[in-house]
Amino acid sequence: MRQKRILVTGGAGFLGSHLCDRLVTYGFDVICLDNFFTGNKQNIYHLLKEPNFELIRHDVTFPIYIEVDEIYNLACPASPVYYQKDPIQTTKVNVLGAINMLGMAKRVNAKILQASTSEVYGDPEEHPQKETYWGRVNPIGPRSCYDEGKRCAETLFFDYFQQNNVNIRVVRIFNTYGPRMSDDDGRVVSNFIIQALRGEDITIYGDGSQTRSFCYVDDLIEGILRMMDGPDDFNGPVNLGNEEELSILKLAEKIIDLTGAKSKITHLPLPENDPVRRKPDITLAEKKLGWHPTTPLGEGLERTIGYFRSVEGG
Ligand code: NAD
Ligand code: UDP
Repeated sequence: MRQKRILVTGGAGFLGSHLCDRLVTYGFDVICLDNFFTGNKQNIYHLLKEPNFELIRHDVTFPIYIEVDEIYNLACPASPVYYQKDPIQTTKVNVLGAINMLGMAKRVNAKILQASTSEVYGDPEEHPQKETYWGRVNPIGPRSCYDEGKRCAETLFFDYFQQNNVNIRVVRIFNTYGPRMSDDDGRVVSNFIIQALRGEDITIYGDGSQTRSFCYVDDLIEGILRMMDGPDDFNGPVNLGNEEELSILKLAEKIIDLTGAKSKITHLPLPENDPVRRKPDITLAEKKLGWHPTTPLGEGLERTIGYFRSVEGG
């Protein structure tokens, strides 16, 4: 019997490359599709020699015709700095990308998983956030291209499911960190670690009282795989993230402590519409997928710091 053929869009990015690693190790035929907007060949370089790994340079906003059994749709810049660089393209990636991938799934009868986000909850009034919460999103702010793009993608996924019987899965990913975040990515964990390792000031936006809940990449990938392989009557959306909530100030202090850096903390203006609190309710993932994160923040940060030390050569 031939191996399952699996497409990972955004496969050369941070999460996508870790997902490709796991799928290649399991022996599946893996096709990584990426236009390298925020992804990096270095992330998947080690896979290029594997006979069950293939790389395609392509932009998901344009149709593509390939035969696959499963699709993980991850293509989309995730860092606010990058998704706000070209907001129109960000909406296109989310909406046209979803339409193209759902069209492919429908044509070849493939199962398809969407990497959605906690950003669909916007700046939430409900805490922690449950999947049943509809969110509080500004439709015309600087984050809207991403938030509304991802919300529309979810709509498309459920409409293809209801109208065309496409076998869908939707996961809402909360802030995830780990090795292979790019060093100029602008997200908080990579920014703080790099600043600490270089002895530069740690840049906290606002007073640092805003919170996030950080999930280590290996835990997140395990959740995504379980969702794809989970029961066909469970389409989601399901939250995947770590329940441990901490302020950005506490995160900065923790990273200074773990790196032994001499960096000082400096405060910069808080970006517009920056969510005040964010923490997933993962009861549904625990119940339906038997999933919960197992990597403590300190341990995940140590591994991530180790990675950045090796790429920084320090
Ligand atoms: P990333 O920026 O490292 O990876 C995204 C990948 O998509 C990159 O390799 C990029 O080159 C590729 N890409 C972008 N536009 C494309 C296009 N038009 N065609 C083809 N490829 C394209 O980000 P990530 O953290 O790995 O995120 C992966 C997915 O998970 C994204 O969809 C993101 O929205 C979602 N997500 C991530 C997080 C997180 O904390 N990492 C949280 C919520 C949701
Ligand atoms: N942040 C910060 N300094 C940085 C980068 C980010 O204080 O150098 C803050 C940012 O304002 C937000 C939080 O850290 O409140 C998480 O930002 P990130 O861009 O990682 O993710 P998101 O805002 O999308 O959750």
